[in-house]
Amino acid sequence: MAPRGQGKRLAQLLGQQLKQYVSEVRGISSGNASGARGALGGAEQPVARQGVMQQQTRSNAQVAVQQAVQQQIKVVVPAIRTDLVGAVSMVSEGEKVEPGVFKNIDGHRFDDGRYQAFIEEITKFIPKERQYTDPVRTFAYGTDASFYRLNPKLVVKVHNEEEVRKILPIAERLKVPITFRAAGTSLSGQAITDSVLIKLSHTGKNFRNYTVHGDGSSITVEPGLIGGEVNRILAAHAKKNKLPITYKIGPDPSSIDSCMIGGIVSNNSSGMCCGVSQNTYHTLKDMRVVFMDGTVLDTADPASCAAFMKSHKALVDGVVDLARRVQADRELTALIRRKFAIKCTTGYSLNALVDFPLDNPIEIIKHIIIGSEGTLGFVSRATYNTVPEWPDKASAFIVFPDVRAACKGASVLRNETSVDAVELFDRASLRECESNEDMMRLVPDIKGCDPMAAALLIECRGQDEAALKARIEEVTRVLTEAGLPLGAKAAEPQPISAYPFHHDQKNAKIFWDVRRGLIPIVGAAREPGTSMLIEDVACPVDKLADMMIDLIDMFQRYGYHDASCFGHALEGNLHLVFSQGFRNKDEVQRFADMMEEMCYIVATKHSGSLKGEHGTGRNVAPFVEMEWGSKAYDLMWELKALFDPNATLNPGVILNRDPDAHMKFLKPSPAASPIVNRCIECGFCESNCPSRDVTLTPRQRITVYREMFRLKQLEASGAASEAEKKQLAAMSNSYAYDGEQTCAADGMCQEKCPVKINTGDMIKALRAEAMTEAKTASGTAMFLARNFGLINAAVPKFLNIVDFAHSIVGPKPLAAISRALNAATNHFVPVWNPYMPKGAAPLKVPTPAPVPAAAAGIPRRVVYMPSCVTRMMGPAAGDKETASVHEKIMSLFAKAGYQVIIPEGVSSQCCGMMFNSRGFKDAAAAKGADLEAALLKASENGKIPIVMDTSPCLAQVKSQISEPSLRFALYEPVEFIRHFLVDKLEWKKVRDTVAIHVPCSSKKMGIEESFSKLAGLCSHEVVPSGIPCCGMAGDRGMRFPELTGASLQHLNLPAGCSDGYSTSRTCEMSLSNHSGINFRGLVYLVDEATSPKKTASA
Ligand SMILES: Cc1cc2nc3c(=O)[nH]c(=O)nc-3n(C[C@H](O)[C@H](O)[C@H](O)COP(=O)(O)OP(=O)(O)OC[C@H]3O[C@@H](n4cnc5c(N)ncnc54)[C@H](O)[C@@H]3O)c2cc1C
Ligand code: SF4
Ligand code: SF4
Repeated sequence: MAPRGQGKRLAQLLGQQLKQYVSEVRGISSGNASGARGALGGAEQPVARQGVMQQQTRSNAQVAVQQAVQQQIKVVVPAIRTDLVGAVSMVSEGEKVEPGVFKNIDGHRFDDGRYQAFIEEITKFIPKERQYTDPVRTFAYGTDASFYRLNPKLVVKVHNEEEVRKILPIAERLKVPITFRAAGTSLSGQAITDSVLIKLSHTGKNFRNYTVHGDGSSITVEPGLIGGEVNRILAAHAKKNKLPITYKIGPDPSSIDSCMIGGIVSNNSSGMCCGVSQNTYHTLKDMRVVFMDGTVLDTADPASCAAFMKSHKALVDGVVDLARRVQADRELTALIRRKFAIKCTTGYSLNALVDFPLDNPIEIIKHIIIGSEGTLGFVSRATYNTVPEWPDKASAFIVFPDVRAACKGASVLRNETSVDAVELFDRASLRECESNEDMMRLVPDIKGCDPMAAALLIECRGQDEAALKARIEEVTRVLTEAGLPLGAKAAEPQPISAYPFHHDQKNAKIFWDVRRGLIPIVGAAREPGTSMLIEDVACPVDKLADMMIDLIDMFQRYGYHDASCFGHALEGNLHLVFSQGFRNKDEVQRFADMMEEMCYIVATKHSGSLKGEHGTGRNVAPFVEMEWGSKAYDLMWELKALFDPNATLNPGVILNRDPDAHMKFLKPSPAASPIVNRCIECGFCESNCPSRDVTLTPRQRITVYREMFRLKQLEASGAASEAEKKQLAAMSNSYAYDGEQTCAADGMCQEKCPVKINTGDMIKALRAEAMTEAKTASGTAMFLARNFGLINAAVPKFLNIVDFAHSIVGPKPLAAISRALNAATNHFVPVWNPYMPKGAAPLKVPTPAPVPAAAAGIPRRVVYMPSCVTRMMGPAAGDKETASVHEKIMSLFAKAGYQVIIPEGVSSQCCGMMFNSRGFKDAAAAKGADLEAALLKASENGKIPIVMDTSPCLAQVKSQISEPSLRFALYEPVEFIRHFLVDKLEWKKVRDTVAIHVPCSSKKMGIEESFSKLAGLCSHEVVPSGIPCCGMAGDRGMRFPELTGASLQHLNLPAGCSDGYSTSRTCEMSLSNHSGINFRGLVYLVDEATSPKKTASA
């Protein structure tokens, strides 16, 4: 971020340049076809938008073009109201909410008995455990990535297409509106409802099946698969079959590692490289759709198509009739073609009505469903024609002294080259680059660039080096011939060679990482209490500069000083990212005014799309007519009526009769905790969370916590109503289990979070707060910490007693007894499972022995710190291995000729994690400090490497040590073996296939690849578990076995894999329990696969 003073200066300069630009734009615009004079940027006083004016701007788009250019529109927000779940709405003139009276309008869907009837009907085939009506779960699912909030009355997790087929006719008959939810990363308010939310479950293989066809040039996928996952499946297919070309799906939204096929198809999402030509509309081969009456149409199956044509003749005829009318209307056909030549997700995919012949209604219907945001049917399967992922790539970052030159550059590249991606950065985005050292190294002249400077990030790809070279030459030539000014400052022009293409993917990645980081940067820097908004507009690329200048000017005038404009320049697509509060009427008013003007600038003045790729949702539903004109808009309503006559499917989305819908149900963002205030509720973290299928996801933990904070504030100020007090009590009650107890606090959410939030830290802080209040528990924890040797001695004996009891009473009674005790003690006593370990053998402190390397004058010394877990827990009772982890490690050290030093007082040492994860901060700190002192002494102040045999313990030690010299001395076993032992041992492959599970702590330390490579030295094939985190979290998974159960339901090991390896004894236990094969420490495999070198190398 630029320093404050600099920011102000830049703002002044920007203001001056903008004045000049805007007047230029007005000049240009006055000559254009619409006759627009750009009066919105002018000095006239705004007039209120009401009555007739409202009609003109919304309901009659042809009139709007002339009217809007003459008058600046100002919306009147008479008042705002906040509902029970905190959503803020503008109160529309004359609007009356009658409690208890159901109307199919947001905020008016009261239960008049229909929801109860719906529940009764679906309970015949959907168990109660998959229906949620409680305040925490409904609130949690009332959250998607948009800035809208509607609280569903009921959330239903569906397992398969058959369930959807049964639900839809019931919903239709009872007139219960429903909304589908895939990953909930939508930004326009289309994945939420105040009625029934149908959530695709991901349990096991539900909605996650796929078939790769042939060489991967097509793939059939179900809607619960994440886009990135599909690309990994295709890459693995190419690798396994040694195919010359790797394919990927065409759509490439930047959310691809989180969003799912259901959402990608239904939003017609796209991204940086796919443009228009590779979006779902253009790359979808076939689709299976469930219609409102439960009928399934499978477009890949001729019999299904024929049956559908017969059974749904009225629908088919209706669609064909619409297509006939459109195709006969030249003007409308031209409008549709023009609009879909650039990115457009405003309204329905009307191009389906012009792109296909009238005698092919199935193609028309299939394409209309794409981008319909769950308002026409349910997509249960999609077959994509995939696109090649060319291996050779290079990227360049070219800076221009002004936006106009950069946009002109994008325009010539689009018209005259086959460049693959062109991303535009405005000045605000470039400012973010200035604070990135790597960027400054690669593009040094960004520093202090002109106030209207801009840049293009360009990527070229080729199927081989020659093809790539040809593309780069073409791009360079075309840009040179265009004669555009280059360089960050007009006064210091640069040649194009100052911005070379980088073939080294490390450098290219720096550019693309900065690009991907632009959204989160605004999100992270925003004022607590505000939300981050992402608008997504597009226009013909030759108008991009004018539109961008207008928008920058608009943001300046409305005081959105953190706004950035950047995006997919080749498609004229800009993302506008800025922060916005909804805390009072003034803030809502500012938003309303800005939206009105933005829509005018984009849709009317520059003939653009209000949504390029994010879908219409609720956000621009009131402006669809403004963008499309009345004729096309009316057609869309006709379409909706054909497919869903009673507006049962996602009503209010895409088409909405309320002109103020975008100013209603705005989501607040209370500043509840500095740990999570930056959260933008994008949902990217969800797929990494072990509790996602059992209780809450990280996003849901945060959003519910925010809501409880808001309600607590109301209560504290005496302003809470009885309903709000009741809501708070109910939420707090459920959150204890859903939010707090079932969080593994492993921080895997942080790995996928664009603003780097570790929700586990928030939960640990809550636990610490609770423990500070619980004085007795804290005192006991401190006593145990101080007398840890007692635990160390007692636990192995206890485990052996349990093992003995198992042999006497058998597994079933033991499991039953432990489950009962677990329930009776509020999850304090762990639940037994057959892979519970026996007590570990006592640690043998070795006597120093002369070693060959020491004799050669290079002492091989290592400090070995066995964790308390491996000191206490041996292998599982049924495992053929009987040695403990520390015996295996000692064996390896001995083979490699290492002298082993064990820290003093080892039997009473512990990293403190078991205290920390329960919230006993003082006890954890005390243990950590003791261990640090012992390690410092044993390693001679960090001179001798230290190995800790359990990854999570090492991570805990690293997170709390204060002595820098220790930091570089600490090793996880995998890292130590790779760095120090590989060349000192003989290796042989002793298995055909092994499974590995890299613990979450090791993943966070970045050693996933090393783990795989090491296992690869011992086995011909290595299969990763594919589980981000098993949910064990010390002993939490034993006390809450449903947590590991939910996480490990996704474990899918190949047949013939007889053992697995990890580096955390407790994780190994739960992995064994859920896979049925023994998981052990990786050192077992390494010990088996290695022998001493005949002649030791130095
Ligand atoms: C930070 C961020 C960046 C983003 N970047 C991009 C981007 O670059 N490009 C882009 O296009 N989008 C982007 N998005 C928006 C969003 O991620 C995509 O639109 C995504 O495809 C939505 O998928 P989802 O699985 O989250 O769907 P959801 O949000 O769950 O649902 C999307 C819509 O589809 C409907 N739906 C879901 N499943 C089905 C089904 N099986 N049948 C019928 N209807 C269904 C829902 O009702 C809803 O209307 C971004 C979002 C975020 C938060
Ligand atoms: S925690 Fe991070 S990834 Fe998760 S919703 Fe919030 S911002 Fe997104
Ligand atoms: S810390 Fe782990 S369990 Fe908790 S929210 Fe994050 S990923 Fe989920």
